Amino acid sequence: MYAEIAIGLASRKTFTYKVPERLMEKARPGQRAVVPFSGGTKTGFIVGFSSGDGPFDYKEIADLPDSSPLVPDGLLRLAGWISEYYMAPLGMVLAAAVAPGVEEDKPSRPRKEVREAGQPASGMSEGGREFVLTAPQEEALGKISGAGGFVPFLLHGATGSGKTEVYLRAIKPVIEAGKGAIVLVPEISLTPQLVRRFCGRFGDRVAVLHSGLTPSQRRQQWRRIRQGEAAVAVGARSAVFAPFESVGMIVVDEEHDASYKQEEGVRYSARDAAVMRAKLEGCPVILGSATPSLESYHNALAGKYTLLELPDRVSGRPMPEVRLIDLKAGRPASELADRPQGGQLAEPLINAAKKRLDNGEQVLFFINRRGYSDFIICRDCGDVPKCGSCSVPMTFHRKARQLKCHWCGAAHPAPSVCPKCGGDRIKYVGGGTEKLQRELMRLFPDLSVSRIDKDSIAQGGGFVKLLDSVACGETRIVVGTQMVSKGHDLPGIGLVGVALADYGLNQPDFRAAERTFQVMTQVAGRSGRGDIPGEVIIQTYMPEHYSIECASRHDYRSFYAEEIKLRRELNLPPFSRLALVVVRGVKPEKAQSGAAGASEIFKNEARGRGVEVIGPAPAPVFRVRGKYRYFITLRSKSHGKLHEVLDAGLKLIEHKKAAPACKVEVDVDPQGVM
Ligand code: ADP
Ligand code: ZN
Repeated sequence: MYAEIAIGLASRKTFTYKVPERLMEKARPGQRAVVPFSGGTKTGFIVGFSSGDGPFDYKEIADLPDSSPLVPDGLLRLAGWISEYYMAPLGMVLAAAVAPGVEEDKPSRPRKEVREAGQPASGMSEGGREFVLTAPQEEALGKISGAGGFVPFLLHGATGSGKTEVYLRAIKPVIEAGKGAIVLVPEISLTPQLVRRFCGRFGDRVAVLHSGLTPSQRRQQWRRIRQGEAAVAVGARSAVFAPFESVGMIVVDEEHDASYKQEEGVRYSARDAAVMRAKLEGCPVILGSATPSLESYHNALAGKYTLLELPDRVSGRPMPEVRLIDLKAGRPASELADRPQGGQLAEPLINAAKKRLDNGEQVLFFINRRGYSDFIICRDCGDVPKCGSCSVPMTFHRKARQLKCHWCGAAHPAPSVCPKCGGDRIKYVGGGTEKLQRELMRLFPDLSVSRIDKDSIAQGGGFVKLLDSVACGETRIVVGTQMVSKGHDLPGIGLVGVALADYGLNQPDFRAAERTFQVMTQVAGRSGRGDIPGEVIIQTYMPEHYSIECASRHDYRSFYAEEIKLRRELNLPPFSRLALVVVRGVKPEKAQSGAAGASEIFKNEARGRGVEVIGPAPAPVFRVRGKYRYFITLRSKSHGKLHEVLDAGLKLIEHKKAAPACKVEVDVDPQGVM
């Protein structure tokens, strides 16, 4: 008997090994296998068996270290699908799926309880509180509970409409029946409240999987799931791989969120993998969002997904009133946004904030840029300091007194004079969270203004602490990036102010309008969640843009109607399938010729197959981390055809060495195209 072993290498092949007599009985798919490999040994997974035909004298498996398969059957099949669909080596998919560190575990090690962040905290857990469901919640739950087997649901519910409550109740009978439930959230460290609610409801039957776990904690969580101690796995992307023997329900909260797509290594979408896992396990899957992705809503209208709607907020709370301020007409208080002391807020927004603050409420300001100014420019020679390894300007961070590259993380001390000509007339262009925080401190000197962004979390605080200081009312004014927009329930916030809605709209990405609509709706949803009716003020240069205008009316359907028309006209997803081939090289001319060679091959393969090959074109950000990048886009109505062309093309590129000194990577269903 011969076994096919997937090893965590860049190769898309599996390797054939002979199963020795003594291991014959034990060998099963999903089992880890220690095998001799180029002079040493490697650990892989048995993924199948074969007759072992071929010219080779196959080596023998050295050992099968576990008594039973580490990877259950459903998970093994999911890994197989991901490997095929996203063109990633199965060994790498399995390595990503299996909690890192699980391999080294000694089965007899005594377990120790870990309580990590996110476990029930006093005062925040729900205890035994049970609501009477609203009629739409009841209806949605009824349909979910009535689904026997694989049914994908799209739960479209306004912010605060009680989606989470539906998830909780849908899961309860599943775990009572002895099955596992998987709950995916976009970024677990940013959703402490949701985690607490799950822990509050299901206690120690919850396993929380997040990137902050130590290898041993991760190992422990994986075992708790594998051995059936934990019945609910809550986590970001990788929780889709939770090793339940049998899964009875999968939830993907905020299904539209771009972070479900992994952009490095195995470039898979955890949302789409969740739907596939549900299909393989024969269970329902709930995709929930206030702003569903175009793809999912399109699927719902086409009858592929069952649409469930929660149109209103619970307890009769109104949706917040949204006002737009046209910056073209009513300029910010001080037009000179480029001066360090220049303001980014217009008079009406400042006045509205004053009123709310006088009334004892909290105010949240949103800006989708961190740092102080987007870049600096010398007024004398015009020089803009750029990153040494990326073709982007450096962002000025005032507190750290640094210029930082937001693409690769490089940082240098900020210059006080122009590094090129020595001139001291430096202009600070654009504004981020730091500049806005300073402006608010000046406007409201007696109140605490805290900033929640990647930098302030790193500098101390931590997200949970910062969020808690808002939740308990200690912080009156918050300035934050996208982080603060995600699903938090902050009942004290009466007003949300958006400093500039336009940032995202000007990105060279066909999802720019969709993302803008989503972010505006999400951030607006942070206001008026308590007893005070909420209010939202959005500053923009494009108030007439449909993404902003529809968000201001909480009108998803009109937004969808506009956007889907454009996608149809331009033949973009969901009307076509895309794959992005990225060719990277250290030398720009190598990258260029490699991209030309690769695209030539794809064009040949695409002929007569209904696949379009566009490019190569330099990436919008040409150089990142020292590598020059070219994009080749493949487009087709059929994923199958796209896949054929990619597969054949990649093999030929490797065989003919068509892109020497370059790395060629494929991104199927790309999210960002920067
Ligand atoms: P969403 O997930 O859609 O943003 P949540 O499930 O977080 O909404 O609900 C918003 C708030 O309303 C939460 O504080 C939740 O506990 C509460 N809630 C949910 N359902 C009900 C209900 N049927 N009656 C009263 N309160 C509810
Ligand atoms: Zn850089």
